[in-house]
Amino acid sequence: MFVSDSLSVNEKGHLTIGGVDTVYLAEKYGTPLYVMDEASIRGALRDYKKSIDENYENGGMVAFASKACAFKAIYEIVKEEGCGADVVSGGELYTAIQAGFPPERLYFHGNFKTEDELAMALDYGVGRIIVDNGEELEALSAMAKARNVTANIYLRITPGVDAHTHSFIMTGQNDSKFGFTLETGEALQAAKKAAAMPNIALKGMHCHIGSQIFDEAPFAHTAELMIGFLAQVRDETGLTLTELNMGGGFGSRYVESDVVLPYGEYMRRIAGAMKEVAAKLSFPLPYIVIEPGRSIVGNAGITLYTVGSVKHIPGIRTFVIVDGGMTDNPRYALYQSKYTAVVANKANLPADQVVTIAGRCCESGDLIQEHTKLQPCQRGDIVAVMTTGAYNYSMSSNYNRIPRPAIVMIKDGTDRVVVKAETYADVMRNDL
Ligand SMILES: *Cc1c(COP(=O)(O)O)cnc(C)c1O
Repeated sequence: MFVSDSLSVNEKGHLTIGGVDTVYLAEKYGTPLYVMDEASIRGALRDYKKSIDENYENGGMVAFASKACAFKAIYEIVKEEGCGADVVSGGELYTAIQAGFPPERLYFHGNFKTEDELAMALDYGVGRIIVDNGEELEALSAMAKARNVTANIYLRITPGVDAHTHSFIMTGQNDSKFGFTLETGEALQAAKKAAAMPNIALKGMHCHIGSQIFDEAPFAHTAELMIGFLAQVRDETGLTLTELNMGGGFGSRYVESDVVLPYGEYMRRIAGAMKEVAAKLSFPLPYIVIEPGRSIVGNAGITLYTVGSVKHIPGIRTFVIVDGGMTDNPRYALYQSKYTAVVANKANLPADQVVTIAGRCCESGDLIQEHTKLQPCQRGDIVAVMTTGAYNYSMSSNYNRIPRPAIVMIKDGTDRVVVKAETYADVMRNDL
């Protein structure tokens, strides 16, 4: 019935998540409120792991792309599941380490890691640093040498694949700020350079072609290009790399019309493409790393809001105004992302109204969704927006000095706060 399997409707007609009544949660904790279902997060991690086990006999690692949703408890869950994590900043790296995440299972990305961040990565002993450009390669080599350590790295490769996704979240094509371009030969030059550098151990290659991709074909095509590239590196440098990180980008279901592939389907196609090309080029199959972010946490999360007013503009539209907005979910304002919403305390009624859900910020563009179907509602009703587990909390802000909502985690029918709501004092904690 809903875009996420975690959601259902109880006998009171209330929306439930992980079996817990969302109206109860809104009353207990207040709104806006992020709610996440732990079973859904663990289930997705396990499904990805299983997809590697079943399709790729050479082994691999599921590394959660933590920028989708980074806080201490998430790293603890991912650690417990035996997975790795991808971090893209000193802040994510710090949180992971504070959560007790094993550093050797961390993959450190980013197209500008500062020297402080590179130092943190070396000092913590991060498993793999994914080098994005030539300047970073030089800097890292010098820093590793000064510390008398070896930096284990991948190079981020831009394979030139157009993944048919929104241009803002498309990163594999040549016109990208990320990585070394394959087509121009820049990538091969970088591999030669890295292979010869002191205090650098080139372990493998990385690519990430974009996000919210529903089609397995671009991944399969990218896998072919990357194995071809590994073979070329072997032929030109004599170095046989043993690891390939294929990034993330697997799609999540936001609206009913999104057709999501089972997790296993991506690996089946990626593994198939890799094996075929590897056999053709007599290249030994590498260890594979995948980095799903959105598809681990997206459908695990919802956001609960209270309706403040309903503004009918005859012949134009109806605004349902809620007590959150672009501060807790900037994705519609940024890229017109689609969402499905439901009136949580009337979830058994037909969604027969067409409305625009608007936030409370002083911006006309502060919308959660336009022209979406919703049950009839009024001030005091609870609106649940689904699939907000990814890139909502992690992209939130204090615009208008609005404190960030709490995150409540549901597990085995019980609820616990994993991130406290910010207070006004938190909002001004650094003001002197
Ligand atoms: C963002 C990102 C991911 C995860 O992307 P999703 O679309 O959330 O799966 C994986 N790897 C890298 C390097 C990324 O930048």
